[in-house]
Amino acid sequence: MSSEADTSVPAPRIQLSPQEWRSKLNPEEYAVLREAATERPFTGEYTDTRTEGVYVCRACGAELFRSTEKFDSHCGWPSFFDPAASDAVILRSDDSLGMHRVEVLCANCHSHLGHVFEGEGYHTPTDKRYCINSIALRLHPSGSAAE
Ligand SMILES: [Zn+2]
Repeated sequence: MSSEADTSVPAPRIQLSPQEWRSKLNPEEYAVLREAATERPFTGEYTDTRTEGVYVCRACGAELFRSTEKFDSHCGWPSFFDPAASDAVILRSDDSLGMHRVEVLCANCHSHLGHVFEGEGYHTPTDKRYCINSIALRLHPSGSAAE
């Protein structure tokens, strides 16, 4: 289960101690964002959301995904086929739970967001599914702010 630290990943711009994160986040948010827990499927507030807007990191506020990249995967979690910007997220291999998966982290603060799966046959431009915990995101609906 142990793996070498991935030295190719640059240090996060936002670095807080566990105590500082705990004061910013509620216990459920902390468990997912900082301890890589997964919320139960079909329970997250954004699973079926179609509201137009931008999804930001709930830990640091960085823009991660847009509603135009969200699609209906029926997997129980909000799913996106691409991040808003290619450098918004970092991918890291995750061999926990006896599976090989690719973990998705916020590039800005290295909080855990979810996992990305590829080649599942979804009819999206990338055939990728960024399977993201609702609790790791916050939606800023478009139209509410002048742009
Ligand atoms: Zn973040």
